[in-house]
Amino acid sequence: MIFDESLASTTFFGLALFAAVASCSREEEPRAFPAATPKIDVHTHISPSAYERALDLMDQAGVQIAVNLSGGMPGAGLEQSLAVQERSGKRIRVFCNLDLRGVEDPRFAGWATGILRRCKEAGALGLKIPKSLGLGVLTSEGLLAVDDPRLDPVFDEAGRLGMVVLIHVGDPEAFFEPARPENERWEELSAHPEWSFADPRFPRWTEILDAFERRIARHPRTRFIGAHFGNAAEDPERVARMLDRYPNYFIDTAARVPEFGRHPAPRMRRFFVRYQDRILFGTDLGVSEGSLMLGSTDGKPVTRAAIDRFFSAHWRYFETTSRQIENPTPIQGRWRIDAIGLSTEVLRKLYWANAARLLGITVPRYPARPTPLTRGHSEGKG
Ligand SMILES: [Zn+2]
Repeated sequence: MIFDESLASTTFFGLALFAAVASCSREEEPRAFPAATPKIDVHTHISPSAYERALDLMDQAGVQIAVNLSGGMPGAGLEQSLAVQERSGKRIRVFCNLDLRGVEDPRFAGWATGILRRCKEAGALGLKIPKSLGLGVLTSEGLLAVDDPRLDPVFDEAGRLGMVVLIHVGDPEAFFEPARPENERWEELSAHPEWSFADPRFPRWTEILDAFERRIARHPRTRFIGAHFGNAAEDPERVARMLDRYPNYFIDTAARVPEFGRHPAPRMRRFFVRYQDRILFGTDLGVSEGSLMLGSTDGKPVTRAAIDRFFSAHWRYFETTSRQIENPTPIQGRWRIDAIGLSTEVLRKLYWANAARLLGITVPRYPARPTPLTRGHSEGKG
């Protein structure tokens, strides 16, 4: 078993040690970059033709395994993605996709569950559902709702096959407000006007999130990862409530450090400690031949410095207790955030152990010398 629960028993001694060293661990710099602990990034988009570039970036950042959520469908990209999975020595793993546009066809359920079985047989680890569910797929009655019962067989079949469903619904709450200069995401919205959901033809943010919760509740035997901090980084109470209610529910951190990082650091630290077995590290790194996305994009060429800042800001946020650090994705907001200084044990789960257990994968040994990760304290579940 790759996930070692026995480490939890070090909790009590860890707390005692923490008390002893807490006074000397306030404002610290991030550890040497890249931090020498294994990492699995569960939320990436890698086009097969650019996989070598993706591996270079992963090496620079210290990421061993990336999960490519844009794996495609059988006969429509999946074969190429799976070839990259092999060529990369299984460092780039694959979630497949599913076209939901045929949902009104009475044969849809049979077709879709057949696709899932083919994905599984071919070697995909899971299914990625994008935000077009709820915001983009049109039916004769309007936008296809996140909890539309015609999709139930898809999610049930994923559970039966042991395929994890990573699901993105909604978007930042500000995208549902008018796209004007006063909007706090104006910089991002002006670069991508099509990301605005202010138009009344779209459901409201809370409507989508409520439908999302009904979706999770309906499939207790299917394991879900709620993308982007459970799709609700603005509302950690909502995310916590869902994590409490649904043991089959997990979340990733992709592209939301700037947003959840706005909440007071002690509160977010408590959150990450309490749900330390349910949160997976993800970035929303997108790599294709012509472009690079670091959580978001303004369409301009990405500099080496921006890549370094993107990853080091993640490590700094999770690993140090520094205040008012730059966030990884400035286009999402020019504000600064306070870091939450997680313990070695919580970081181990966040960075790789939770993903390895949930996805059933092993992490190759990190090639560099293993250096101690943090200030030698650990803590229990809050
Ligand atoms: Zn994404």
